This record gives sequence, structure tokens and C-alpha cells, in this order.
Amino acid sequence: MFHHPSFDAHERVLFASDETAGFRAIIAVHNTVRGPALGGCRVWTYADDDAALTDALRLSRGMSYKSAMADLPLGGGKSVMIVKERGAATPAMFEALGRAIADLNGRYIVAEDVGSSPKDLLNVRRHTAHVTGLDPEDGGRGDPSPTTSRGVFIGVEATAKAVGFSSLEGVHVAVQGLGNVGYGLARHLRDAGARLTVADISSERVAMAERELGAKAAPVEAIGEVEADIFSPNALGAGLNAMTIPRLKVRAVAGGANNQLATPADDEALRERGILYAPDYVLNAGGVIKMAGEYYRWDDAEVDRRVDGIADRLSEIFTEAARTSRPTGEVADRLAEARFARH
Ligand code: NAD
Repeated sequence: MFHHPSFDAHERVLFASDETAGFRAIIAVHNTVRGPALGGCRVWTYADDDAALTDALRLSRGMSYKSAMADLPLGGGKSVMIVKERGAATPAMFEALGRAIADLNGRYIVAEDVGSSPKDLLNVRRHTAHVTGLDPEDGGRGDPSPTTSRGVFIGVEATAKAVGFSSLEGVHVAVQGLGNVGYGLARHLRDAGARLTVADISSERVAMAERELGAKAAPVEAIGEVEADIFSPNALGAGLNAMTIPRLKVRAVAGGANNQLATPADDEALRERGILYAPDYVLNAGGVIKMAGEYYRWDDAEVDRRVDGIADRLSEIFTEAARTSRPTGEVADRLAEARFARH
């Protein structure tokens, strides 16, 4: 365990099972210097136990960075539940997860993630109060996506200003992915006067953006080559890589998709091309800010204020990157690490 390639001084890793319920899960608590470790429960058909452990270790570490750069009183954690097939997770399994989380005495707070839903969390909540991201009818605040979209919008605006625009009026943004986050972002951009070119594998989403937002459509395979001011990835991860970076015709990349850089070398590749990269986890922190607000019972104004802070945090990163001639992703990581370091 301590020599695992993805192990990074995680504080606790709990392997939990309940044979009667057919439950197996790993809860990884990466760092709680800033506060309890918040992170969703991923339910997945892992090829083997090591793949599940790798996911738990990596994703929990990522949450430490995201929460620290959002200035939240939270650390990083994640749980993964191992299932034999998709959709096979039962209420009894989520109850077993709840008992395991209860044993951590508030060190870990669970939310939904790929494969789990807010309703599944109700079964977790039977055994522990350390749950967030519930539906409004269950006492929660509902879907975090609109808050994520607003945070990404604030990040795109701050990035546009960093490359010389005074506002988003007339700025051309190429938006990849029009899902929960991307469509909400596109709407904010349109309201701010930006010019939109969009792509999605769903032709319905594209047609809706053309009709409602006056967007221009681009083929899915060409959105990363559109001549625009800003490229905004809001679909899947690892979209910025050795193949795609040389083809970009923009001044900056700013979007909400998680894990946009395929490798750390791609951070430097963007810098070398003179393309300003807004680190993904700084931009897309609106969701975790909203989850934190539900857990700590902040009012809407407090949540909004913290989402607005994304602009200042990006400016800090851009300024430091310019001062040190280092890539922005690396600079963000160093700033985050300083925020959750043990003194
Ligand atoms: P979603 O599933 O609602 O949207 C994804 C969209 O991308 C879909 O419309 C899909 O058709 C489209 N898509 C898939 N492959 C594509 C491709 N090759 N080219 C163009 N479009 C493609 O998901 P979401 O909730 O909007 O999340 C989008 C990204 O933002 C993900 O990376 C997610 O991890 C990240 N994120 C989401 C939140 C949130 O609050 N929802 C928070 C933080 C990060």
C-alpha cells in the first residue's frame, strides 16, 4: 500500500466489506488539514481491486487540490464501490457504505459521483449525517451543475481579461460539450455578449444552442481547431494532449471538464505555444462549493461570494505563472499544496 504508485501520504484508506450485502468499497481520505475530506462515491465495474484502489487514491488527492484552491474548509476524499455490473448497486450496499462512513466520525463526507445518485445517498444517511448533495425534497440543495456553470463562466471571463479583453462582449468562445455544465456556461456567455461556436455528440443539444443561443455549430472532431479567442472544454477529460494542443487556434483554454490535461507535459506544451491555460479544477469548483454550502448551511449569498472568488484565484495563478515563467497547472498545484500543507 505505502509503495503504491498513486499513494501520496493519504491519511487513511479504509477497505470495507459486508458479505451479506455483497458490498465492497474503498474510502480514501487524502488530507484533512483544512477540514473534513469531501468527495463523491463512485460506483464502478473495476477490472480488479488495484484499479479501484488507484481510482480512490487519485480522485481523493484531486479533491484536496480542488477544495484547497476554492479556499473551502474541506479536505480531499473519495469512495469507490466495486460492483459486478452497471446498475448493480443495491440499497443494502449504500447502507453498508453509510456504516463504514460513520466509523470515520466525520473525517469523510460523501456526495454523489459517477454511478451513484442523490437518492442512493438517502440509504447512506440512515447511518451517518456526513452526506451532502441531496435533492431539495430530501433536505438538500439539489443539482450542483448550475453553480458549476456559473463558476466556469466567471473563470472564462477572468481568463479573457488576462489575455487582454476588457469584457466578454464580442469574444469568440468555442464550447466543446453542451451537457449540464457546458450548456449553462454557453447561456451565461451569450448573455455576456460572447460569440459562440459549439459542438456536442448530441445533435439535439447543438440544435438547441443554435436556436436558443444563436450559436454556430462545428463538427465534434473540429471544435478543437476552430479559430477563436477561447477554447472551452466541457465534455470529457484528457482532451488536451500531444495530438490536440498543436492544432489549437486560440489564445486561451478555459472550461469545466475534469482532468483536461492528458499528462503534466501538456501543461508546459500549452505555455510554450503561448496559450493561457486556466486550470480545470479551479474553474469547475462551483459544484464542490455548493456541496460545502449544503453541508455547512451557508446561505446563497455566501455560496455566490465564494464562487465569485474563482476570478481572484485565477488571477493569482496567472500572475504567479507570469512571474516565474512556469505553466499555470503546475503553479495552481503548488499554491494548492501550500494551502493544505502540515506546518
Ligand atoms: P454531462 O454528461 O451533462 O455533459 C457532457 C456533454 O458532453 C454531453 O452533452 C455529451 O453529449 C457531450 N460530449 C461527450 N463527448 C463529446 C465529444 N467528444 N465532443 C463534444 N461533446 C461531447 O456532464 P456535465 O455534468 O456537464 O460535466 C461535464 C464535465 O464537467 C465533466 O468532465 C465533469 O466531470 C465536469 N464537472 C462537472 C461538474 C458538475 O457540477 N456537473 C462539476 C465539476 C466538474
